[in-house]
Amino acid sequence: MIYRIKVKPLTRLWTGDEQRKSEVLRETGIIGSLRWWYEALIRSLDGTACDPTNNRKEKCEGKNHCDACELFGCSGWARKFKLDIEESDDEVIFKIIELKKMDDIEFGLLNKTFKIIEDYGALGGKLAENSYGLIKIKENDLEKFQPKKSKIRKYIKRGGSTVDNPNLKRFVFIKKGLKLQFVKKLKGECTFLKGKPGKGKRYSRKLW
Ligand SMILES: [Zn+2]
Repeated sequence: MIYRIKVKPLTRLWTGDEQRKSEVLRETGIIGSLRWWYEALIRSLDGTACDPTNNRKEKCEGKNHCDACELFGCSGWARKFKLDIEESDDEVIFKIIELKKMDDIEFGLLNKTFKIIEDYGALGGKLAENSYGLIKIKENDLEKFQPKKSKIRKYIKRGGSTVDNPNLKRFVFIKKGLKLQFVKKLKGECTFLKGKPGKGKRYSRKLW
């Protein structure tokens, strides 16, 4: 099956790297970004998600993999879908093309991922910069997948290697009016915001 998500980029989408200009949207760049948000979502649901860029720890491989790799793949376990990108002047259509049978829960989680990106995040690279990756979803075939929490709970918790960051549980979404006093209060209540020296990154994006 093919599912289409039609998106209007409010700012430019970036999928290039330092050497390459990002003139055409690359599948790998968008998949990488989707996976990042998907991992954060999975962890917030107490599922397991490894860090595919981390070479030091034990890795997901073949049948022994985490909830994120179940959909996005790892060595010995193929990604369940292919992403086609159709660009026009002011719209981008992402086509999710099923390669392996996908669970309804996976479509539902992917739907949620797009919505989180639309509401609070950004798609593609240069996440921490204000001028990239903001999207508005115009049409979304994945809308029909609205899995119940109980079903999601049943679906997640595979084994595999796991890393605890990024996790949506530790995201703070503030739409406007951020004041220093509030930040201080937050730091008192949410100890994770302090981070550990040399570990973790903090990103903030102005949404107003
Ligand atoms: Zn994994």
